[in-house]
Amino acid sequence: MKRNSENGPILPSTTNGFTSKALQAKFAKLGIINELGLILHLPLRYEDETHICPISYVSEGKTVQVEGIIIQSDVMYRPRRQLVCQVEDGSGMLFVRFLNFYSSQIKAYSVGVRVRLLGEIRPGFFGIEMVHPKCHIVREGAPLPDTLTPVYPTTAGLSQVVIRKLIRKALIDQARVNNLSETLPNKTLTDYRLNSFRDSVVFLHHPPSNASTDLLQERTHPAWCRIKFDELLAQQLSMRLHYQQRRSHRAPALPARNELTKALLKSLSFNLTSAQRKTFSEISQDLSEIYPMQRLLQGDVGSGKTVVAALAALQAIENGYQVAIMAPTEILAEQHYQKLSNWFAPLFSSLGVTIAWLSGSQKRKQRQAALSNISKGNAILAIGTHALFQEHVEFNKLGLAVIDEQHRFGVHQRLALRMKSTKSGVVSHQLMMSATPIPRTLSMSYYADLDVSVIDKLPPGRIQVVTKLFANTRRDEVIVRIREACRVGKQAYWVCPLIEESEVLQLKTALETHEVLSLTFPGLKVGLLHGRLSSQEKLSVMQLFKQGDIQLLVATIVVEVGVDVPNASLMVIEHAERMGLSQLHQLRGRIGRGTEASVCILLYQKPLSEIARKRLRIIFENTDGFEIARQDLLLRGPGEFFGVRQSGTPMLRFADPERDETLLNDARGVAEEMLRDYPELAQRHLQRWLGEKNKYLRA
Ligand code: ADP
Ligand code: MG
Repeated sequence: MKRNSENGPILPSTTNGFTSKALQAKFAKLGIINELGLILHLPLRYEDETHICPISYVSEGKTVQVEGIIIQSDVMYRPRRQLVCQVEDGSGMLFVRFLNFYSSQIKAYSVGVRVRLLGEIRPGFFGIEMVHPKCHIVREGAPLPDTLTPVYPTTAGLSQVVIRKLIRKALIDQARVNNLSETLPNKTLTDYRLNSFRDSVVFLHHPPSNASTDLLQERTHPAWCRIKFDELLAQQLSMRLHYQQRRSHRAPALPARNELTKALLKSLSFNLTSAQRKTFSEISQDLSEIYPMQRLLQGDVGSGKTVVAALAALQAIENGYQVAIMAPTEILAEQHYQKLSNWFAPLFSSLGVTIAWLSGSQKRKQRQAALSNISKGNAILAIGTHALFQEHVEFNKLGLAVIDEQHRFGVHQRLALRMKSTKSGVVSHQLMMSATPIPRTLSMSYYADLDVSVIDKLPPGRIQVVTKLFANTRRDEVIVRIREACRVGKQAYWVCPLIEESEVLQLKTALETHEVLSLTFPGLKVGLLHGRLSSQEKLSVMQLFKQGDIQLLVATIVVEVGVDVPNASLMVIEHAERMGLSQLHQLRGRIGRGTEASVCILLYQKPLSEIARKRLRIIFENTDGFEIARQDLLLRGPGEFFGVRQSGTPMLRFADPERDETLLNDARGVAEEMLRDYPELAQRHLQRWLGEKNKYLRA
């Protein structure tokens, strides 16, 4: 058998009709590639087959094990074909129904045979019954297992029996080669009262019959706590290592000189909020250091992240370094370009430097000119879409890269690597911005490799958006509202339904909606914005809307990200029940940016699913992005919540940062300690929990 140095043998070649390759493929589907993987494949739940309940004692709704003799066995045809047996144990009798069965089973389950049954007791027509119980034929007095029976997550064609057998073997094999030994320092075990790893996994795979099924089920048993702690610790270790590794790189120190930054602050028509000042001072401090900054600036939609990024850019620029600002969509990048050009042009004119614009759709000639300005350093600031990150974009002296709406880009780690400045070994600072606020516990867990600054207050004077829920049948009222608003000089968005299955249908709907609304409002200029327009067309529609030449903008969800038109104060979202919470929150954040009271109307189509109803309720009741995110997380769980983000981040299988906050806090402290005082144990711990993934993370 081939040995994989650390983690023990590749899956053993067995059995039960599977060739070893097929079996291996099935386990790979579960993410299991070796014996340690098997050991960390922990049960979903348990069945108690350690004792037998007399039939007369069973109660309805409970899952129990009984044993008795088959006294009657028939195939019935009404209401559908089924095998019905009666089982008698001296104390009572119950019916057993098999809806799917083989003819071999008809023979096997014949009168006089003794069977052991595990299943839920239900009331039946003739008396109590079990439908499709787990059933095996036994001889009288056959011994009972002395541990609870684990039930594992599985995949098609992989039976519990096979999984159990392989895990049992893996536990023995791995113990023999000492692979279940402790990775935590003794001190940690005592300080945090943790059970040993080995005892914990053995316990969870084979809990003794007297174990508390409640604690096991809720995953609060000390054995579960140890596993969850270990998992959180691995995540923290890996992310802290990642963090430290970055700190081993050098970046240019860009201290605050308070020249350009001060000039910008002076020229603004508003004062920074205290939250903006605080976050900028954190960023400013980072920039002054010789390690590359990796900071995430979080702030709800409309909290004013752009100006903070602008200040950071100026601090780099006043040190003679270039800055790149990247946004996920052309519309957003263009908006930054306009805003920053307005702010910066007066400051730059005397310096003889320019701002470059780079996007995937621009003409070759313009692009060449921009690229040459960037590489020569004439352009001190480059703004664009991900075109900025292409291989052939060379900066003369890049000091800072700003990435807006970073969650849109997925794995920031990879992007980071591309943003090297010209001098080898020196890395630029990086500022990421996100309007998807995430709860603190999650941030501690999933963003442990970053420093995080939070703008936790909106600029003053904002009037909260009023959210209204209208059934689709009330469109007429909505039409009246739009007419009213536009009559007094306000502007409105009409967001078309999201049609995930078909982009073609989505486009068709947008075109139709535009047509209908144009006919409905002959006196208004109705614009249309959708994903299939060329970027030039998109920009010009946005420009017209901004200038007020378009009063009603019909749009697909392309307006979701970052669009800023303060005069728009009404938004209608069609089929709001199809959209996710963060999507709705982001969309709604497009209004309420000016001084007008704004209204967001969510049109929904009945009937509503349970989850859609919950979502609409949350968005209706909350305006705070953090609270919405928290509830979203509770609704969906972290895996889905993060979506595309962080394919490099170890996701958690057992622990839940929200529920296991105490463990998370402990793991955080222990991770620091281990990296400092027990680096070898830390490595072993990472290897156990992340194996090969860990290498990827540190790449
Ligand atoms: P986001 O955080 O969503 O990117 P923006 O940076 O686009 O938000 O800011 C939203 C709006 O608020 C912009 O029009 C911006 O000029 C304005 N703004 C930013 N900071 C302040 C402030 N301190 N006081 C008043 N208005 C502000
Ligand atoms: Mg923004």
